[in-house]
Amino acid sequence: MMPGNVYIVHHIDTEGPLYESAEEALLRIERLFGVSFGLRRNIETLEKLKAGRVQDIDSSLSESVCNILKSAEFKKSWEEIDEMLLRILSTNYRKRFCDSLGNSWIYNWHIVDHVGFVTNKRQRHLGYLSIFDHYTKILKDTCSLDKVYWHFHPISLKKEAHFCATSYENSMYELHQSLSRRLIERRWFPKVHRAGFHTERPDSNWFLEQWIPFDVSNQSIDEDVFEQSDNMNHRFGDWYGAPKDWSVYHPDLYDWRKEGHLKRYIARCLNLNCRFRTINEYEIEQAFKKAMHENVYLGVTNHDFREISSEIEKFYNVLQIMSLQYPKIKYIFSDSLDAFRSVIGMSIQEIKRNRVEFELSLKDNCLKVSVINGKIFGAQPYLAIKAKNGEYFHDNMDFGDFPSEYYYTFDYQTLELNEIEQISIASNDSYGNTCIAEIKDQQIKKYWI
Ligand SMILES: [Zn+2]
Repeated sequence: MMPGNVYIVHHIDTEGPLYESAEEALLRIERLFGVSFGLRRNIETLEKLKAGRVQDIDSSLSESVCNILKSAEFKKSWEEIDEMLLRILSTNYRKRFCDSLGNSWIYNWHIVDHVGFVTNKRQRHLGYLSIFDHYTKILKDTCSLDKVYWHFHPISLKKEAHFCATSYENSMYELHQSLSRRLIERRWFPKVHRAGFHTERPDSNWFLEQWIPFDVSNQSIDEDVFEQSDNMNHRFGDWYGAPKDWSVYHPDLYDWRKEGHLKRYIARCLNLNCRFRTINEYEIEQAFKKAMHENVYLGVTNHDFREISSEIEKFYNVLQIMSLQYPKIKYIFSDSLDAFRSVIGMSIQEIKRNRVEFELSLKDNCLKVSVINGKIFGAQPYLAIKAKNGEYFHDNMDFGDFPSEYYYTFDYQTLELNEIEQISIASNDSYGNTCIAEIKDQQIKKYWI
């Protein structure tokens, strides 16, 4: 049997700066361990805990707290993040890492919009397109060829920007605003998803299935993450029972962790530096072993608000040691979409031949979308509308001859045509081709991204 390759795919949850006061850091740690230190929450206490110099707590707790505080040194301003980016995006830095083909390091940027929040104690950079635009500029300025992908943070019940949440249903307005604005203003539509807080639930499972063919969120691992106080009772990133052998799978309709008959592909992705679900020598070796007879997707992830370089360097050292033990297996730094295509076994001819294409026509007040090549991913193309007053809308289409014909009527029940500045339609196919078409100033234009 022919050996495969291990595709090393580095996913970065791209969220901009993150500030944490000493008081907030201590409160977070106390909540995490379910304890109260009974100390004033200030910088002096924080420094003492970091140095392991607090007498009244037991030594194992002290060590755990110390490790978390040391690994949670956040980049709190764009200046700090940009200093890192200019360093790690440089050709010289990328070349410090070399894959089996002699190629340099590749990043995959999963960019979030922090939106829908009422309080923002961590001073996150709020607003639609704000982090997206910051990154697309710096990637362009540094001539980086890395791709931008999708990340979304569901909104917590009290709309606090620093808390985790799981519900897409509770975040639907912001979700569609984010997609619609990126589509209309930047001609961008997501192909690859990374789950916010590593978490999926039925509502996100079904949402993704409508639009996004690739998903790199599985964190199933042989360790009891449910012992951690913030993960007890299957809270948050619950991938219990999902494949742990680096295989790519289709999820089940009701249980995203099970293999099933949905169309999107889910790959596995472990943390580069975290208190749980961390990539290690054992997991890397499993990928190399699996690659003895097939291509393997090995995803790793971290955040842009922590120093990315030290986390890559640590991982790369282990990767190199492991590759010496498996000299016949090549490891290849990869863009996510390229890795999916290789692991699934999609040929270039197949990808090109089946590239989704649709045409738009506007007759009187009715928009018709006709799919003329390939097949759309999901049930319908994505419709986004920008009104002349600056509002953005998403809506369902009306279904004609499914799945190749769709309609949308502009009138008093929706929007009148004279109220509209732009209409954009996007669709992926199962191969990761994306067709975008738009109507603006009575002109129809089409793009592939
Ligand atoms: Zn995130």
